[in-house]
Amino acid sequence: MDIETNNLQKTKPVIKGYTLKELKDYFSSVGEKRFRGEQVFNWFYRHLIDSYNDMQNLPKPLREKLADATGEINTLKLVSRTTSKESGTIKYLFETSDGFKIESVIIPEYKRTTLCVSTQVGCPLDCKFCATGLMGYRRNLTSGEIFDQYKFATKDYEGRQIKNIVYMGMGEPLLNFTETVRSLNIFAENLTPELRLRRITVSTVGIASKIIELANLDLKVNIAFSLHSCFEDIRSRLIPINNKYSLKENIDAIRYYTKKTRTRITFEYVMIDGINDREEDYYTLLKLCKSLPCKINVIPFNSLEHMNPQGFSAELRPSPPERIEPFVQALRDKNITVTVRYTAGIDIAAACGQLAILEN
Ligand code: SAH
Repeated sequence: MDIETNNLQKTKPVIKGYTLKELKDYFSSVGEKRFRGEQVFNWFYRHLIDSYNDMQNLPKPLREKLADATGEINTLKLVSRTTSKESGTIKYLFETSDGFKIESVIIPEYKRTTLCVSTQVGCPLDCKFCATGLMGYRRNLTSGEIFDQYKFATKDYEGRQIKNIVYMGMGEPLLNFTETVRSLNIFAENLTPELRLRRITVSTVGIASKIIELANLDLKVNIAFSLHSCFEDIRSRLIPINNKYSLKENIDAIRYYTKKTRTRITFEYVMIDGINDREEDYYTLLKLCKSLPCKINVIPFNSLEHMNPQGFSAELRPSPPERIEPFVQALRDKNITVTVRYTAGIDIAAACGQLAILEN
């Protein structure tokens, strides 16, 4: 599996998605002043404009040259926007220039609206509890396409209120490492007063070598690790790639990450009836949590019924609330920070693990 490619035919360079340094390098490579890179960076990522014609501090001949020599600034087309009546969650459906559909979700919360972005069209992993895995994998998104999800959402959602970004939509960000890191480098430039890397979370199933690589880049972004079970064999059944990148290897990488970046790791834990909500699951989870700086994000399992799952996937059921509550309380009693991600957006299939597009 070639994990770092996308199939876009690049006739012209698509500079939307370039980092500040890459834009400066681009302008010097085409015989222009490097500061033009900074100007274009601001137009792309702070002013969120879609046309070179609107770049007022660029001379007209340069605007024309750029429009002619580079690819489209607007990398995504909005197809539809669905709002959940229950929670106010908004799901955007976008189309890429080569005709694939991807989704992003806005989760409005009091004072801290969160945007959930996709990093791949579909997903190459086949986690048994996740709808995206069931739809298969098409290609990696470019950093421009990752950024443009934010651009659309920001313009659409009452001005600039997005304060958190989670890389938790479709796809596995660390299997699209280059473009994910490029997009993080764009956000690292403090585009708005509120949005800092500290408010951005990359969620991963755990690609140990990439966690170490990310730590060494010193980006100080938060990592959420999709743990779901502390037992190698159970985790491998749920998340088959655990056979390749084991829990042990990932926990070692995470320990390194927390030390190097001085961040706390978030363990995501989807509660599945009889699979990871037993007494022994509680004790192993507690032991793990006591061993490194972390918090737990418990997620009630969202149904995959809209995907007509087969085999093991079809057997999975959410843990009943009467089991989730004491499990969470017992962890809190031992001073572990636990948040429960109350599910938002089920009525529009926008909740965790429900994003999937069948016509791609
Ligand atoms: N590939 C990344 C990011 C995408 S999933 C990852 O696996 O972390 C974002 C989160 O939603 C993950 O923690 C994932 O395990 C969780 N998730 C997937 N399917 C789910 C479901 N059916 N119900 C609840 N959470 C789910």
